[in-house]
Amino acid sequence: SLNRTVSELSADLQVSFEFFPPNSPEMETTLWNSIERLAPLSPKFVSVTYGAGSGTRDRTHGVIKRIQKDTGLVAAPHLTCIDASPDELKQIAKDYWQSGVRHIVALRGDLPESNQKPEMYAADLVSLLKGVQDFEISVAAYPETHPEAPNAQFDLLNLKRKVEAGANRAITQFFFDIDAYLRYRDRCVSVGIDVEIVPGILPVSNFNTLKRFAGLTNVHVPNWMYNMYQGLEDDPTTRNLVGASIAIDMVKILRSEGVENFHFYTLNRSELTYAICHTLGIRP
Ligand code: FAD
Repeated sequence: SLNRTVSELSADLQVSFEFFPPNSPEMETTLWNSIERLAPLSPKFVSVTYGAGSGTRDRTHGVIKRIQKDTGLVAAPHLTCIDASPDELKQIAKDYWQSGVRHIVALRGDLPESNQKPEMYAADLVSLLKGVQDFEISVAAYPETHPEAPNAQFDLLNLKRKVEAGANRAITQFFFDIDAYLRYRDRCVSVGIDVEIVPGILPVSNFNTLKRFAGLTNVHVPNWMYNMYQGLEDDPTTRNLVGASIAIDMVKILRSEGVENFHFYTLNRSELTYAICHTLGIRP
């Protein structure tokens, strides 16, 4: 595949980028520099997270509006249903539509400490949104099973419910076990899920943060990754190179398995995502 031209590499390929609302002036600068750097790669859409329960939906919308205005890209806000009533959600959806939002990443959000059984799941949110307007909707998928699910099959059928409610694509939790993703994709097909299962790619530059995050989300960090980052605790430059190299290997394998869409968890940085896209043939 090293001999393939850029246009052969990038044929049928589409990428999307995820950002989060910055919470300091420095992070604000980093975010907008990253968006400026990544926008010329013409992503299919970019998305902006919203921390369930944080009450900062306005910050998410603020970033969305500025992306729309400054770049003209399709900007999709994440919306959670765990922390709002159906009436509030309908109003939010109407307001989003009014302001030109046509694509929403629909999520339940993590359970608050109280651990009460939620009144709504993501599938209910998808139905609610589709009842308001014909939004394009992305939902979450978990190749290694969502931590709360009683079993993998239940979780898979939950994705099917989200798709039947109107979701247009599933974006996976980040993963490093490619076989787990490929098996999951096969199982999606076997239960009749007919939307793209877009791999969520997390380029890792801080391995310690990753380990903490992976533990919370039921994502397996393979031994080979521990080996790769060993001894680099104080060496961010090399960690970045290693992180890019791992992600480049992953996208190459996924590409050879027919994956045509990639979603990048940019963590508001552009360097690694830009480099990985470059190797995929995605150029300005
Ligand atoms: P659901 O699809 O509703 O599933 C949640 C759990 O409930 C699963 O275990 C499922 O199997 C189970 N379940 C579903 N229906 C039922 C039922 N009827 N009865 C019993 N159990 C059921 N979080 C944020 O706060 N903000 C974000 O911006 C954000 N963005 C994300 C983006 C992506 C791509 C991903 C993968 C996750 C994101 N998350 C975000 C995290 C997400 O909110 C959590 O993982 C949350 O715990 C589950 O959300 P969900 O939409 O997958 O929920």
